[in-house]
Amino acid sequence: PSDTGRVLSIQSHTVQGYVGNKSAVFPLQLLGYDVDPINSVQFSNHTGYPTFKGQVLNGQQLCDLIEGLEANDLLFYTHVLTGYIGSVSFLDTILEVINKLRSVNPNLTYVCDPVMGDEGKLYVPEELVHVYREKVVPLASMLTPNQFEAEKLTGLRINSEEDGREACAILHAAGPSKVVITSITIGGILLLIGSHQKEKGLKPEQFKILIHKIPAYFTGTGDLMTALLLGWSNKYPDNLDKAAELAVSTLQALLRRTLDDYKRAGYDPTSSSLEIRLIQSQEDIRNPKVELKAERY
Ligand code: ADP
Ligand code: PLP
Ligand code: ZN
Repeated sequence: PSDTGRVLSIQSHTVQGYVGNKSAVFPLQLLGYDVDPINSVQFSNHTGYPTFKGQVLNGQQLCDLIEGLEANDLLFYTHVLTGYIGSVSFLDTILEVINKLRSVNPNLTYVCDPVMGDEGKLYVPEELVHVYREKVVPLASMLTPNQFEAEKLTGLRINSEEDGREACAILHAAGPSKVVITSITIGGILLLIGSHQKEKGLKPEQFKILIHKIPAYFTGTGDLMTALLLGWSNKYPDNLDKAAELAVSTLQALLRRTLDDYKRAGYDPTSSSLEIRLIQSQEDIRNPKVELKAERY
């Protein structure tokens, strides 16, 4: 595989640590992509710390950046990647950006991580759920919700693999041909469920990957996962299962390393959220060793 592309990545920036663009740009570059980051916020550190400070980009400021690119004929992108978005007005502007980029490149792939919350808790304003459901999901080519987000977007409660597969089918009907629910917790086990509807109306090809849950809480993993899924699924467009195996393999090697490093330094890894060892894992990003295999349904 060799196909790469030019990615516009609209996500958070943190000065210290790895979430948002800080966890997506470097791996995509390592996989050979040109990445143009727009920082939707610039914070000192991620919001899991006791405090943070910084700036938030508004919809008009995003428009300005796009207008600048447009004025120089620089709007050709193969992919757009979006993650955490904090307001309806910013999300509405992103929709305009997608439409504009699709008028320049009708084949533009939009990879959307519909970041809304985790473990039963919403961390964006409630109005965003409706906008994601009604306006964003229909434009997405690939969607990468976690369990909670898949529930919010479909109205389904996901308590089993079957529920996860059904949620994917509902999401396909709304727009995206590729859906990856990045983790479902069932009985202490993590399960990734992937689904590729190769043509509208066809039954989607679905698979699962069983992941051993590491007893620690990491931030930035969802953002990294979505970036890797973009990177690999573009190289293997007809093998979402292979792309997911590669992405999961990188994640597992990186999380192991992160845990080991913290333990070696004498930290209790269950006590607070850990910063991922992204730069130290570059070999695992370039050449992941696939240990966890996808099982087709
Ligand atoms: P988000 O951060 O968006 O909620 P997930 O929790 O689904 O996303 O994490 C994305 C990926 O990161 C998962 O598919 C899994 O591979 C990996 N991951 C995250 N947390 C853990 C963990 N505690 N143990 C093992 N893998 C994890
Ligand atoms: N963006 C910011 C600013 C954050 O603070 C966080 C988490 O704290 C994230 C994004 C998302 O992290 P994750 O990939 O773990 O969902
Ligand atoms: Zn997430």
